[in-house]
Amino acid sequence: MKKTLFAALFAACAFVSSANAEKLRFGTEATFAPFEFTDKESNIIGYDVDIIKAIAEVEGFEVEIVNLPFDSLVPSVLTSQIDGAIAAMTITPERAKQVAFSDPYYKSGISAVIRKDDVEKYVSLDDLATQRLCAQIGSTGSNVATKISGKVGNYNTVPEEFMELNAKGCEAVINDRPVNLYFLKQMKEDAFVEIKELYNGEDYGIVVNKKNQELLKKINSGLAKIKANGKFKEIHVKWFKVEE
Ligand code: GLN
Repeated sequence: MKKTLFAALFAACAFVSSANAEKLRFGTEATFAPFEFTDKESNIIGYDVDIIKAIAEVEGFEVEIVNLPFDSLVPSVLTSQIDGAIAAMTITPERAKQVAFSDPYYKSGISAVIRKDDVEKYVSLDDLATQRLCAQIGSTGSNVATKISGKVGNYNTVPEEFMELNAKGCEAVINDRPVNLYFLKQMKEDAFVEIKELYNGEDYGIVVNKKNQELLKKINSGLAKIKANGKFKEIHVKWFKVEE
């Protein structure tokens, strides 16, 4: 009897505390699998979604994920349309002038994908020097594409980039490597291949408004906690099948 009463009280408290938890809005661009994409029921899922939800859980807040174009994420944080952004976003000096980044949470790099028929034509990135390239608007991939050839078609979503590559509207897609690899793995026919040359050394960070140092602290503290309690590793293994 006592036990039941205790359980009921505990449940009531848990209900009150979750009802009172602050709900924060985090923006993302949900065509960037495996970091953020939609399932068959249009739920936004992925590595980043799991990371921010795990941080929220240990820090006692709730998260609403908002799907926005990638190049509108930083402006939306600046104008407080959203509280933060988690979008496989590389920590760059230019962005860090505008917004605050959390501690790095994922090491990435950039690669190029071409049509399989072109493997002999484009062996290295230099071979793409005069070609039209496809990238995501506002991304570091787009900056790399500009360095390689200067002729860049910018698209809002990853599927649009690959449709354009398939239609021969561009000769290569320049994206973050994990996204390119995930896309290639999901494809039934291997119509595309990756060039084995990379731009390495990008770190992803979670973005918040510089004025919101309190949230930045919570995010960094949450990241440290989920690294310490094994959740971070678990999420990595779930999406990348390897521990690291
Ligand atoms: N990591 C890249 C960047 O920060 C690409 C991110 C993205 O397109 N979602 O620009």
